[in-house]
Amino acid sequence: EEGDGAHADAELLPRAPVVTVMGHVDHGKTSLLDYIRRAKVAAGEAGGITQHIGAYHVETPRGIITFLDTPGHEAFTAMRARGAKATDIVILVVAADDGVMPQTKEAIAHAKAAGVPLVVALNKIDKPGANPDRVRQELIAESVVPEEYGGDSPFVPVSAKTGQGVDDLLEQILLQAEVLELKAPVDAPAKGLVIESRLDKGRGPVATVLVQSGTLKRGDVVLAGASYGRVRAMLDEVGKSVTEAGPSIPVEIQGLTEVPSAGEEIMVLLDERKAREIALFRQGKYRDVKLARQQAAKLENMFEQMDENSKNLPLIIKADVQGSQEALIHALTKLSTSEIKVQVVHAAVGGISESDVNLAIASNAVIIGFNTRADAGARKLAENNGIDIRYYNIIYEAVDEIKAAMSGMLTPEKKEEVLGLVEIRQVFRIPKVGAVAGCMVLSGLVRRSAHVRLLRNNVVIHTGELDSLKRFKDDAREVKEGFECGLSLKNYQDIQEGDQLEVFEIKEVARTL
Ligand code: GDP
Repeated sequence: EEGDGAHADAELLPRAPVVTVMGHVDHGKTSLLDYIRRAKVAAGEAGGITQHIGAYHVETPRGIITFLDTPGHEAFTAMRARGAKATDIVILVVAADDGVMPQTKEAIAHAKAAGVPLVVALNKIDKPGANPDRVRQELIAESVVPEEYGGDSPFVPVSAKTGQGVDDLLEQILLQAEVLELKAPVDAPAKGLVIESRLDKGRGPVATVLVQSGTLKRGDVVLAGASYGRVRAMLDEVGKSVTEAGPSIPVEIQGLTEVPSAGEEIMVLLDERKAREIALFRQGKYRDVKLARQQAAKLENMFEQMDENSKNLPLIIKADVQGSQEALIHALTKLSTSEIKVQVVHAAVGGISESDVNLAIASNAVIIGFNTRADAGARKLAENNGIDIRYYNIIYEAVDEIKAAMSGMLTPEKKEEVLGLVEIRQVFRIPKVGAVAGCMVLSGLVRRSAHVRLLRNNVVIHTGELDSLKRFKDDAREVKEGFECGLSLKNYQDIQEGDQLEVFEIKEVARTL
């Protein structure tokens, strides 16, 4: 049998922690990863020139640590969205001269949603403007509490520039890892994750693989998504050829037939024919091969994460302003009963981004947009992954609907149907008439009788009706996608170039939540 099955009783041995670095832009994530790589990765054959393979491991007197070399929470969450858990510990980098910023908060939310412990690196401690005490207070306000105050996050002042504190940081990571008691079988066929992949001109498909359990050996037959092959060569992070890699060790492998996607599970199969069949099945070929289908289904089952949170209703809340965000969190969490718990996985001010949708995929959450909208990328990602995005502009409607969803009631509701999207390209301010906009219908259509929502940077700043709709000089009932039109809003003049109008109608339909 493939996979763990035949090796279920392989002895579990301690393994190195795998670490991802997150934090606000410019707070020093890349610098920290670079510093550690330069200072700590054992020099390679090529004279110490390390190559970038998407991950590296360092050996310290107290143990080994593996770093994923893609800083930021996007990769982390994209990976989680696929059901993959690549990270044991998150290093939250916060610049001591800048403090907690929006992406710091996002990183905290993402790490918490994943249940991954944080080690805080208070970076740029060398700078004259550094104020670690203030940053400490700001982090406590985000419920990241230092160990010395009874919390569970070590705070380590560091400088990615001078290297000050870096050894202490590594030590704190290893201490956290001890608490986690990370273990994996070693003497078993390997399973792991594709961290990075590309098509190399000379070498064909190359993938950086993080082995998570078992030992990957040269010559092994592997399956990674719709790609399979025999491992022809393996390189470590300094470009040295290796013949095997155990748990938590990253290696670059050659020999796959296709380029697998980052985040894909990779596993060793004993039977090359079987690997090929499953890969072809996943490529959409071999549709009728019963055996391939069975094998694929069996594997999908193995990959599927057990959903232990079925009694939770996880929500992600994006609101136009802090006030409505807080009011929603308060009103919605109060709905929790002893049977179903409303769990706000993440809440923030602003439009709905791909990162929010990835977080929703990873945590099985429903996204609530309160006077905000999803951008095009987020919309598409949500659609492709069946993520429910619900828009509201009145708090009690959101509360009612979530309540109904929780009690399983499906009563008819007034639901809006979006007709189209209009972009405002020019605004004319005409005395006594007001603001008249020259527009382009980007998608769908605009109807004179419809409702409109004025969006600025995907945030709703006004909801109302049209006062006029013209095509050239004439009044129009409707203007379709790809055509220009002129319009004005009823009792509203603050239109600006670049704003968008979401055009919608309200209908009575059955609830579908
Ligand atoms: P990232 O966006 O979080 O990856 O941040 P970078 O690593 O690109 O760092 C942003 C800027 O801060 C760069 O100009 C770095 O040189 C600088 N920087 C990073 N860490 C430190 C530090 O510890 N001390 C000082 N003085 N500058 C730093």
